[in-house]
Amino acid sequence: MLLHTPTLLLVLLLGFALLGVQLWLTRSATLPRRELRPVEWLCWSSMTGFGFFLARDWMPRDVAGLLGILALAAGVTCFTAAVFQHVLQRLPPKAYWVLLGLTALPVLGSLAADGAVRTAVSCLVLAVLLLPPTWVALRHGWHNEVSFRIVGGTLCVTLLGLAWRALDAWWHPADYQDGQQDSLRAGLTFLFAFMGLLGSAFGFLLASFERVAQKMRRLASVDGLTGCFNHNTTHALLSHSLERARREHLPMSLLMLDLDHFKQVNDRYGHPVGDHVLREVAEAVRRCLRASDVFGRLGGEEFAVILPTGDDAGTRVLAERIRTAIERTDMRSDTGQVFHVTVSIGMAVIGPQLVLTPNEALHWADKALYQAKSQGRNRVVVADPWMLNTTIAELPA
Ligand code: GH3
Ligand code: MG
Ligand code: MG
Repeated sequence: MLLHTPTLLLVLLLGFALLGVQLWLTRSATLPRRELRPVEWLCWSSMTGFGFFLARDWMPRDVAGLLGILALAAGVTCFTAAVFQHVLQRLPPKAYWVLLGLTALPVLGSLAADGAVRTAVSCLVLAVLLLPPTWVALRHGWHNEVSFRIVGGTLCVTLLGLAWRALDAWWHPADYQDGQQDSLRAGLTFLFAFMGLLGSAFGFLLASFERVAQKMRRLASVDGLTGCFNHNTTHALLSHSLERARREHLPMSLLMLDLDHFKQVNDRYGHPVGDHVLREVAEAVRRCLRASDVFGRLGGEEFAVILPTGDDAGTRVLAERIRTAIERTDMRSDTGQVFHVTVSIGMAVIGPQLVLTPNEALHWADKALYQAKSQGRNRVVVADPWMLNTTIAELPA
């Protein structure tokens, strides 16, 4: 059985071209377009490289071979940049560019040699250039997206294929003389090496979309500014906690937090500093909480904390700790001026005998918060049981 190398070249050229066109067409509609651009360049470069190998009969063979390997090296470099950016959020280190420059030497040096030596040198050069992204994909990217494992796996296949092709060209030079002769061995090594690279590009595409999907899923339940649960998720978790506390005959607690005179912070220091304050406040509160507590942003500068098994004494201590933590947090304006903000907290302990909806529970804690504001702010007020009936009566049925 023989494998017709020009046909394989054409198949790979079309494979990379197809992927390149798809990436190009969807560029404006694709969310991770910045990180997919180098993959598109990999496609164009590989397509050009295989194009030069195919064009050997219509131009000087040495020139076609040299341009082909240079184009493939450029493609591999783009892919390396994509992998580093995706996994480590930075470009490859300077040493990689030095390595890229150094690999030009053996390629140029092998120009005068025969086809087998040129093939072996080209494959080794590509393998050396692919070592850093393979290492990064396996060592740092393995626990990223599940589909990024395809990239690590197929890069290994590519490396093995390139090494196999280089060794095979060394051991069986007769099969690699003009680079286009029909040979099962040469065809298989070629297929192994470069199909792996095409597979890596597809894997990268999947991993990019998996990352976007994860981000979307997170954003659907988490507030983008503070990292707290958003309003809807907080409501759902409150409903769950109320139900669970009732079933297990345990009290649970709810804190409503509202920053004091926050409008003045925005007016005095600007909206971006206001955003920074919200993030710092969220961080300060988070440091006071346990992993089982729920911390949500209800909107604006209002937050809720749900303590699924909070009793009266424990919740009072925690609420006071949160209040002082916020009061002591140094906030900084654009000019470096340090200032402080305070918070008013309404606290409600919901005993297992109470049957409340999330809205009723929130409204009850809000009553206490309102009292904290009217009593002078920067304090914790516990909701009175007698407020409860009026609270429920006020809410729309
Ligand atoms: P009080 O002590 O009575 O709560 O006064 P306050 O100024 O905190 O309350 P008010 O409801 O009057 O103002 C809340 C302000 O919060 C108004 C709005 O500009 C600001 N705000 C709401 N959401 C955001 C946000 O996401 N970022 C920033 N920077 N400001 C926000
Ligand atoms: Mg408010
Ligand atoms: Mg406020």
